[in-house]
Amino acid sequence: MSQRPRSYDVVVCGGGIAGIAAALAAARQGASTALVEREYAPGGLATLGLIIIYLPLCDGAGQQMSGGLAETLLHLSLAMGPGEIPEPWRNPQATAETRSGQRFQAAYQAAPMILAAEQALLDAGVNLFYGAQISGIADQGRQLTAVRVETKQGREWIRARCVVDATGDADICYFADEPTVTAPDNRRTGWYFSHDGQQVQLHQLTDPLTGDPPPGSRFYDGTDLDDISQHVIDGRQMIAAHAARLRREQGLAHYPLLIPAFHGLRMTRRLAGPVEFSDDRHEGGWFPDAIGMIGNWKQSGKRYSLPYRALRAVRHDNLYAAGRCISADRSGWDLTRVIPSCAVSGEAAGTAAALQALQGLAAAPETADLQAVLRGHGVLLRPDLFDRVIEE
Ligand SMILES: Cc1cc2nc3c(=O)[nH]c(=O)nc-3n(C[C@H](O)[C@H](O)[C@H](O)COP(=O)(O)OP(=O)(O)OC[C@H]3O[C@@H](n4cnc5c(N)ncnc54)[C@H](O)[C@@H]3O)c2cc1C
Repeated sequence: MSQRPRSYDVVVCGGGIAGIAAALAAARQGASTALVEREYAPGGLATLGLIIIYLPLCDGAGQQMSGGLAETLLHLSLAMGPGEIPEPWRNPQATAETRSGQRFQAAYQAAPMILAAEQALLDAGVNLFYGAQISGIADQGRQLTAVRVETKQGREWIRARCVVDATGDADICYFADEPTVTAPDNRRTGWYFSHDGQQVQLHQLTDPLTGDPPPGSRFYDGTDLDDISQHVIDGRQMIAAHAARLRREQGLAHYPLLIPAFHGLRMTRRLAGPVEFSDDRHEGGWFPDAIGMIGNWKQSGKRYSLPYRALRAVRHDNLYAAGRCISADRSGWDLTRVIPSCAVSGEAAGTAAALQALQGLAAAPETADLQAVLRGHGVLLRPDLFDRVIEE
């Protein structure tokens, strides 16, 4: 057991895209910040999972929707190459018309992203803990006081004034008895890279996203131990079969070069907050408590604002969700889970947590105060882009 007392203004739980953004945002405010990660690299699905397509920061009609750290992390993912931001989005003189032809997105590689993100976190003064699995929480009334961590030295506690749940699976919300929703119907996936003796190729293997799973496959619950394990095994079997077929059909030079070191589950468990962000109900609407804006990666021309309330825990006043586990209904979850949206909610959660901790507030900071700080850091908050206000 460590003798060092570990106590922070903000403890960010999970170091995927959302956790990276949350930790950078909290540290930027001057909060002492810890990032606690069970793996040995930052990025989660977006690095170890080999999901290396940074989906659009724009609405597909030439309007940028997400700025701030969502944009910074896109640049960071490309800082050591390869990959490129499309020309209209690199050119400050480009018109909306030119930009509408190409979406503000890029493909990157996991290794450069890991190196760049880790350096950015270190430069920001974030205390990084790897190989640290959070297994529980301590609370007093409506305040979380610490998270319990399983380490090589056994179990220890990290004290926190505020906590961000960026585990992707709402683990902290679950441990804290917050209302959560679980998705039992994940599909088999297996993204991997092959080499054919000359070139590297990405294969985005997945069961179809609608209808019954194909023969030999099934649905998976991303919070169930048996299902998680089977999902990982079945995904690798799918990769092995695909790689064997490539060798058979295209030559023995083919081999699998890089396979995921992470699960490939899309939606697992999320916070069920007072507002569930929804594509069906909230498209084109402005939430007065918006903490960021996003586009729709599937369809051009759609705009959304993300409500502060989708990040805030129900039973604890100093706990925030970020990333693919914020509060959203099924239609909204498919938008909040993608990389740029995770960065948007991560930045907001980390900023709110830091403001609360540094100002000694018992509850989350006021919306206007949070919005002012986010705007100051380049987060786009533009009610004028929306044709209606959501009164919910
Ligand atoms: C098959 C597939 C394809 C996808 N395609 C795309 C795409 O093309 N483009 C796109 O933008 N998005 C895509 N996505 C979605 C996107 O990649 C993820 O949803 C997003 O990266 C999630 O980020 P996150 O930080 O919320 O969660 P995660 O990436 O899951 O990160 C959570 C982190 O928390 C850690 N953690 C979890 N529990 C604990 C714990 N108890 N203690 C300590 N650490 C913990 C994990 O190790 C991980 O590092 C895809 C997802 C899948 C599965």
